[in-house]
Amino acid sequence: MSYELKPWHEIPVGSIVPEAGSSKVNKTGSWRMLRPVLNYDKCTHCLICWIFCPDDSIPVTSKERFETDFEYCKGCGICAVECPYNALEMVPEMEVKLKELEEQLG
Ligand code: SF4
Ligand code: SF4
Repeated sequence: MSYELKPWHEIPVGSIVPEAGSSKVNKTGSWRMLRPVLNYDKCTHCLICWIFCPDDSIPVTSKERFETDFEYCKGCGICAVECPYNALEMVPEMEVKLKELEEQLG
């Protein structure tokens, strides 16, 4: 593999988001190490988690929250910390993936 050496002023600036709205096309859920698992029995649909989620990953109506949108949830855990009813548990993503795989394989 070869690399083209460029003078410093021709190297593009890194670690920037050049255009607004890019999060719609960049599905950030693949960054997640922990997954918020919702206990529906404990959830009162108070929607506090939705207010705090920095990624707008919790679909809601005015009366109800639904399953987290895992295509965008980064697993920051803010929703689990803010939930006043302990209805969310942060679980290692790898555990969830292994369980799904075991279920698929029977
Ligand atoms: S903050 Fe907790 S109880 Fe309230 S909607 Fe979210 S998960 Fe349910
Ligand atoms: S873990 Fe973070 S990104 Fe995911 S739903 Fe909760 S608050 Fe939103």
